[in-house]
Amino acid sequence: MQQLTVCVLLASCAWTVCAAAGDWCYQSQFTCDHQCNTPDKWNKANSNCAGKNQSPINIVTRKTVKDKTLIPFKFINYEQKFRTSIKNNGHSVQVVLPHLTTISDGGLPTTYKAVQFHLHWGNNGGPGSEHTIDGEQYPMELHIVHMKHHYTDLGTALSDPEGVAVLGFFYKRSVGANRKYEPFINALGSIRATNANTSMSGISLTQLIPPEQNLTNYYRYKGSLTTPGCTEAVIWTLFEDPIPLSMEQLQLFSNLQFHDRKPMVGTFRPVQPLNGRQVFRSGSAVILASSALLVAATVTALGLF
Ligand SMILES: [Zn+2]
Repeated sequence: MQQLTVCVLLASCAWTVCAAAGDWCYQSQFTCDHQCNTPDKWNKANSNCAGKNQSPINIVTRKTVKDKTLIPFKFINYEQKFRTSIKNNGHSVQVVLPHLTTISDGGLPTTYKAVQFHLHWGNNGGPGSEHTIDGEQYPMELHIVHMKHHYTDLGTALSDPEGVAVLGFFYKRSVGANRKYEPFINALGSIRATNANTSMSGISLTQLIPPEQNLTNYYRYKGSLTTPGCTEAVIWTLFEDPIPLSMEQLQLFSNLQFHDRKPMVGTFRPVQPLNGRQVFRSGSAVILASSALLVAATVTALGLF
């Protein structure tokens, strides 16, 4: 009987290692017992991940170029409350969105419809965004994924170099809790284990993002999905105004679990080289004061004042 138990244990361990070896993971998941493909080895999972137009990136605000075509977005049905499913997919928490929700303008070539949203975060409210602004990593980043309106599935949209538009939002720690996040954050308690899902209702995208008048300042560049297959088919928009969440609310995301039941933390890809790409900013996006001061200080030091 004991022998049989050992055999079963060995077989299950061997299976775990084999299954993990071909799979991708975040740096936080790598241990001697779990040797998965960390971000520096994602090109083994998909060669696209070694491409020249990868995401995320660090945005150096003083190197961004102002683009007058980057006008405010038109958000259609963002205020509509919907019922949907929310799932722990082993890498993040993902929420399916009704296709009636669309975005246009904002310098986009056409109308894009919402597909899903998911997030990237750190360890217990620590740094965890994927994009960084002048080297600053925020505690969390929201990705609302859209595809060109005439496509019916994301797979087809990804074969178009402008097929996908992702709206990225940063989070900042606030003193008080963000009540508008309660239905979403409460649902996290029901999906701690990988592949768990539950339904969520009475939620709208408007209640998850900053008010529309604060969404005119954003950055724009062309990049990729930030998980394998790393497909370079994404028009990226990163909004300047962050979403407030309390420390307690941010920490609740770290209660989710990877497939091995370890805490789901550090779910971000490190920033990728720009490789000559230009990052644009909308008409009103401001160069951060710290950079402006740095420029002023340099000019002064050079005796140009
Ligand atoms: Zn993402």
